[in-house]
Amino acid sequence: MDARVVITIALRVRALRTGCGNWSGAASARRLLMPARETEAIILKTFPLGEADRLVSFLGRSSGRVRGVAAGARRIKNRYGSTLEVLSHVQIWYVERETRELVRIQQADLLESFHKAQSDYGLSTGLAVISEISELILPEHEVSEPMFRLILLAVREVERTGDWSLPLSYFAFWTVRLGGWLPRFDRCVACDEPFGQHPAFYDAHQVGLFCEKCRRPGMKPLHLEARNLAERFAGERLDRIAYEKSMQASARELREAALSWIELHVERRLMTRELLESA
Ligand SMILES: [Zn+2]
Repeated sequence: MDARVVITIALRVRALRTGCGNWSGAASARRLLMPARETEAIILKTFPLGEADRLVSFLGRSSGRVRGVAAGARRIKNRYGSTLEVLSHVQIWYVERETRELVRIQQADLLESFHKAQSDYGLSTGLAVISEISELILPEHEVSEPMFRLILLAVREVERTGDWSLPLSYFAFWTVRLGGWLPRFDRCVACDEPFGQHPAFYDAHQVGLFCEKCRRPGMKPLHLEARNLAERFAGERLDRIAYEKSMQASARELREAALSWIELHVERRLMTRELLESA
């Protein structure tokens, strides 16, 4: 056992004996032993851990997806406040532990609050879909600047507009695009016939879009308007696209198709998807 481990254990014992009061002192001492890492981050998910702690999964701008423990985060008077809410935009400090997979989160400061979206049931359903998808597709410890920016942009727009329809379509479309799973939108994957004005068809079991002749039973349509919306998404930023009532059906079709392609890629059903129907 090296000296560093001994000191860390000693500090932990002292922190336990003296309770929360001495926590920050122990933390700053620990910080001297193991250099703390700091990153801008988005909270992806949190779970209760034991009686007092929370397990936190976050996407760090400079660290990629990381899982860690926030000690004491379940106590009523904890120093995290609302920083550990799903999809909060925070600055986070943590230490890696050589022997364990989970990092120790020392501090999180809120950079940007999405309180309206987080506290509204309907809106938080949209956030839950973004959170589940991000958690599933992002590999651990792999930096992804495009996904970081995409998540932040989508959540900001849910908060700003009070509606997840367009942000979620945009998020799902771009997730598929960034993942490289987007099929051709102009012609049938089976017979190569251009779709023209006709609807294209998809499901969550086959890669690609199919024409009316090649479609299989149970496939859903992606009409021209939805394919045109995809083109707009590819070229315009979400916060510059004005949502009009007439876009509702296309936004929904495109979102449903993109969610199916995500499910095809991760080889499982998205748990949060059916919540959208009721929200
Ligand atoms: Zn065809």
